[in-house]
Amino acid sequence: MEELKLCEGCGVATQLKHFRRKRSKEIQKTCNNCRNNKNNNIQSIDKELRNKFEIEINVNTNDKSIKNFTFEEQVERYTKSWEFWKNQLPCELLNDVKDDEESMRWLLIKSTMSDLLMKIDRLDDNLRKEIRKNIM
Ligand SMILES: [Zn+2]
Repeated sequence: MEELKLCEGCGVATQLKHFRRKRSKEIQKTCNNCRNNKNNNIQSIDKELRNKFEIEINVNTNDKSIKNFTFEEQVERYTKSWEFWKNQLPCELLNDVKDDEESMRWLLIKSTMSDLLMKIDRLDDNLRKEIRKNIM
């Protein structure tokens, strides 16, 4: 008989083989189904936020071409991006987050904001100081 394990995600007793990734012996806490759903959720939240960003900030996030911006344009772009992501954060703190989707959203936004901050910190001094002044 197949060994069963209780999935911490869906709470269903599931065959042990569904707790392993392909070519891995490591046993996960949640079944493959739960993990796939979670990945799909993260991707759809990510897509939703990026679409919103492109509409509100009027940029194409897939456009990697090099453009020349003036100092003021750069300051404005980064400040607007920061404001956008800040506004997407749920009002409650993480402790009060009710469900999985909300905490995924929170983490996704937080990590985008910290990436953005790292990008800003790599800009040249004057630019960085000017943007920092706006967003702090
Ligand atoms: Zn499950």
